[in-house]
Amino acid sequence: MPELPEVETVRRGLERTVVGRLITRAEVGRQRTVRRTSADAVINGLTGATVLAAQRRGKYLLAPLDTGDTLMVHLRMTGQLLLSEPGAGRPPHTHVVMHLAGQEASGHPPAELWFVDPRTFGEVVVFDPEHADVEVPELAGLGLDPLADEWGPTELGTLLRRRTTHLKPLLLDQHVVAGIGNIYADEILHAARLHPDLPGTALRHRDVVRIYDEMQRILNASVRAGGSTLRDAQYVDLMGAGGSYQDDHRVYGRAGERCITCGRGVVRRLVHSGRSTHYCPVCQRPRAPRPGPVRAGRAIRHTAGTSR
Ligand SMILES: [Zn+2]
Repeated sequence: MPELPEVETVRRGLERTVVGRLITRAEVGRQRTVRRTSADAVINGLTGATVLAAQRRGKYLLAPLDTGDTLMVHLRMTGQLLLSEPGAGRPPHTHVVMHLAGQEASGHPPAELWFVDPRTFGEVVVFDPEHADVEVPELAGLGLDPLADEWGPTELGTLLRRRTTHLKPLLLDQHVVAGIGNIYADEILHAARLHPDLPGTALRHRDVVRIYDEMQRILNASVRAGGSTLRDAQYVDLMGAGGSYQDDHRVYGRAGERCITCGRGVVRRLVHSGRSTHYCPVCQRPRAPRPGPVRAGRAIRHTAGTSR
């Protein structure tokens, strides 16, 4: 599933190639992709509109149009935006097509922008920003965006340290921090040397600073690498190219392998409600809850696990 770095890579592609261009015509194939409104609403909303900007909030792509409406695209599990020559053979599961006029000033020939989505969890919506609270209410509920917002460890500490929720689901909660999914939550917690089951209330200020610093470092590095493209090759950029940050993953997808950070631990994979969590039991030692006594059973198991 595309996360912040992948969506940001697509956003940058849109900024380079689609912003400033007129949508002359739009086609909708699959109703499920435009389920929030209707095929007619999307076609009418896009036809004759010029794209003014390419923005991102968390995993949401937002493109204000000169009509006053905004185009929103969410890739969800398997969605892709692909730029192509007019009339090129479309891949299966191409559900929305936007025909873009050529733009002489920037040397862009006419093109088609395809929304391709095999599993159809993704969405294309055209909405009036004045009615955003009704049409896309989830946007107002999004938490801080690690790269788009001006913030620091103090704000992150306020969000995390009052919560008894474990760190992994806390980082995945889009109302807390917007844009992080399974891959980057695992990588950030590993780099910050924090166990995924640690509750937010157990965090010290220096833990929060580490999470903040590693979040910025990892997400920026992944954006520079064009995101992560896993073996399923589901995520590609606007030109159909994969990213390379998967080569820098230290725990995600490495269950059973020796940890490349410490060289001692073996990466473990836990599954909670259908989601997997990868961590190194040596780098990310469990910590006794604070305040309260250390439970002997846990301490003994922990020591045994680290002596291997
Ligand atoms: Zn390790």
